[in-house]
Amino acid sequence: MSETADPLVIRGIEYLGPMTAAGGWRPPPGLPEVAFSGRSNVGKSSLINRLTRRKALARVSNTPGRTREIHFFQINAQFTLVDLPGYGYAKISKTRKAEWLPLIEGYLRLSTALRGVVQLLDVRHPPSDDDLTMLDFLADIGAPTVIVLTKIDKLRARELPERIRQIAVQLHLDEDQMIPFSATTNVGRDELAAALVSLVEQPSWRAVAEIPEQVEQVDVIPSERSESRDLHVEPEELR
Ligand code: GDP
Repeated sequence: MSETADPLVIRGIEYLGPMTAAGGWRPPPGLPEVAFSGRSNVGKSSLINRLTRRKALARVSNTPGRTREIHFFQINAQFTLVDLPGYGYAKISKTRKAEWLPLIEGYLRLSTALRGVVQLLDVRHPPSDDDLTMLDFLADIGAPTVIVLTKIDKLRARELPERIRQIAVQLHLDEDQMIPFSATTNVGRDELAAALVSLVEQPSWRAVAEIPEQVEQVDVIPSERSESRDLHVEPEELR
């Protein structure tokens, strides 16, 4: 049995409610917030359930009709876990996309309590255009970002290092800046928990004064992708 202490012991979880539209209701910013982002089906609900050791914490976010909302969960009176809507599902039309992009962007730009983002990528696939757009957006606003590669149990053990290397090259990141994770085997759970706690405990990277007052001022995600992604990925000391 492992003697390693759990970096994130879950003592209590409270669902605070949904944000349904840009500029709409959200819990009063108090505790530090960490947002979880990824395309639909990347394994975000499974990861959140593993992280919090609850069987169905993220079920509310996966309920039909509620998948386009941002859901807020208070953990341990310590921080707020922000479950962003899964993006980029192939069947979603451009009109639907136009609905959720401003919601996600508006939240990420305007939250004074945001300490960072956990960005999920499926280890089996190259990052999608939507993934790259999101990563560029996070780099643009300077948000500290933890990259998690999901579903690693779906690859053969000997394939994994090469896949991780390829994704690192595509994203212009070091391999050790990404956390390999599996909700099936729980590999990476404690590493992610430790990274999350580090995000929560660090001061906000953004000065409150920099945050625009009006949601209307939120820019559309820049269409031009920067050559080198200047992501504020959390360094090794988090791990
Ligand atoms: P979400 O849409 O991002 O919330 O994704 P879900 O957590 O609902 O997962 C989507 C599908 O992938 C489900 O069928 C999960 O059982 C499966 N899944 C999620 N994580 C893993 C994983 O680590 N390993 C495997 N093998 N399947 C996973």
